[in-house]
Amino acid sequence: MGILTGKRALIVGVASSRSIAFGIAKSFAEQGAELAFTYQGDKLQARVQKLADKVGGGLCVSMDVGVDEEIDAAFSTIKDHWGTLDSVIHSVGYAPREQLAGGYLESVTREGSQIAHDISSYSFPALAKAALPMLAPNASLLAMTYLGAIRSIPHYNVMGPAKASLEANVRFMAADLGHRGIRVNGISAGPIKTLAAAGISDFRKLLNQFERLAPLRRMITIEDVGNAAAFLCSDLAAGVTGEILYVDGGFSTTGLAQE
Ligand code: NAD
Repeated sequence: MGILTGKRALIVGVASSRSIAFGIAKSFAEQGAELAFTYQGDKLQARVQKLADKVGGGLCVSMDVGVDEEIDAAFSTIKDHWGTLDSVIHSVGYAPREQLAGGYLESVTREGSQIAHDISSYSFPALAKAALPMLAPNASLLAMTYLGAIRSIPHYNVMGPAKASLEANVRFMAADLGHRGIRVNGISAGPIKTLAAAGISDFRKLLNQFERLAPLRRMITIEDVGNAAAFLCSDLAAGVTGEILYVDGGFSTTGLAQE
């Protein structure tokens, strides 16, 4: 019996076996959860279905989080399939590639900013709105964020303000939904080499610095994030909401590097 036995979770954001969402799916499956997945567009369908099968299978539905009709259609399919839902995992982020190179003011544009905020932040409350009618009384919503929300990080650029907005969404949604027993939290993960991260200029440099400076002196894995996510979505975390949990080997807690 796992800490998520009897729970049904929707995982949004699997694109490859390196995706943080896939780490979460593995951990949720190990802890007894029943899973459903969404994928972004037909190109990813076969790959996501194959990854879903690796963790015990589950319904896979197409959903672009930037299109309200797709969100409504996906949740309608999930409602027909399950009736109720205990968790929604939002593991989605996007900014056009040219936004993630050079200096902040040099790269940021009105259009780039709108896209980054829409896909990386607004989509979280958009999913919550669609999920609401089917959320169980003690359901848990979870989003993935990064240190760039509260500190400037070279080349992370407009994703910093977008993640700050996502973290504010976590707090406002927690305030809205708490009276129904529904919890909303975020995980701020250390840098992990995934498809999304590969779009950030000089990401390799960031990884090297991280490994040297983080108190744990090692990289964070998608399994580290998955296990923390399983805790947050389980009844073990029943008193935790509106919180950002750092799964970053302590990196965000240091001032100067230790010799
Ligand atoms: P990833 O590329 O594996 O996952 C990003 C996912 O976002 C993909 O599945 C992609 O299909 C999805 N996506 C993008 N635009 C979408 C849209 N319009 N509709 C539906 N899906 C869309 O990369 P990842 O690193 O696993 O990213 C997952 C989350 O973790 C993101 O929010 C990211 O910002 C966050 N995060 C990543 C790191 C890291 O270093 N990799 C660190 C902290 C937080």
